Amino acid sequence: MDDLAKDVAAQDRRALARAITLVESARTDHQEQAQALLQRLSGHGHQALRIGLSGTPGVGKSTFIEAFGILLTGRGLKVAVLAVDPSSTRSGGSILGDKTRMDRLSRHPNAFIRPSPSQSHLGGVGRRTRAVVALCEAARFDVILIETVGVGQSETMVAEMSDIFTLLLAPAGGDELQGVKRGIMESADLILVNKADGDLKPAAIRTTADYAGALRLLRKRAQDPDGFPKAQPVSALHEEGLAQVWDDMTTLAQWRKDHGHWDKTRKRQAVHWFEEEVRTGLLARLKDDPEISAKMQALALEVQDNALAPDLAAQTLLDALR
Ligand code: GDP
Repeated sequence: MDDLAKDVAAQDRRALARAITLVESARTDHQEQAQALLQRLSGHGHQALRIGLSGTPGVGKSTFIEAFGILLTGRGLKVAVLAVDPSSTRSGGSILGDKTRMDRLSRHPNAFIRPSPSQSHLGGVGRRTRAVVALCEAARFDVILIETVGVGQSETMVAEMSDIFTLLLAPAGGDELQGVKRGIMESADLILVNKADGDLKPAAIRTTADYAGALRLLRKRAQDPDGFPKAQPVSALHEEGLAQVWDDMTTLAQWRKDHGHWDKTRKRQAVHWFEEEVRTGLLARLKDDPEISAKMQALALEVQDNALAPDLAAQTLLDALR
């Protein structure tokens, strides 16, 4: 593990790929090695800009990431692209993992693209993704893009591992806001209305104004400078507005660093993941214990049959644990 850690830190891509394979492996011995590796690499001091990007299938995520990634690599930056794909955890199929996506970017020497690991549950994917983020930082990537689809919990999960969270939307037909969940609006730093080109341009500009209005109503957070959160139109296909997006991201990141919010947020996120791991770990242990597991099943049946309220059943189990 010492050698592997050294090679990752020396930005050896094959070592990075090997390290990622190790952290993604379900084998217990691999997991132990992965922990040892991550421990050796922790505190390497390099921080990448972690950018979360969410949007429904078809909105233009891969087109955007490819164009944006090429813009960034063109400026000499090293860019890693990771995916958190909730569909791959359930069906084994994947919305995001397709290897043919981002063909140009994937061939670039300063880019590294990793599809979502297929794991049995989203918690597992989250843990692996966080480990891969840590590896990419140790390998001195400048920007880490974490992509997800805008469905279910994966979006919240990605927001909790990002410095900047970006929502990619399509131009709306009417004047309705497209069923974007309030919680997601609250964690978005940038809303990009994509496909602002050709016939769709007027709708994209209208939609941008609607979201800008909604963002203003929704919040003013301490970690936002004037003008943020921000909505703006882009065209990933025609590569328009992307330099502005990068300017906004660097402005926001720098402001947060200068005002102490960057560190505070990363610390809060670390504690969040610690607690999340304790929570899932505890539950897994309870289920591993035959006696407790039987009690849980019995209580679950009562809950199903409406004989016991869920919170009362939970209380009963917790009391029994004492
Ligand atoms: P994803 O599923 O979110 O990754 O979306 P894709 O990047 O695969 O794009 C879905 C479709 O939208 C493709 O046919 C793209 O060519 C198209 N598309 C993506 N970005 C733009 C854009 O900026 N303008 C237009 N007109 N089409 C776009």
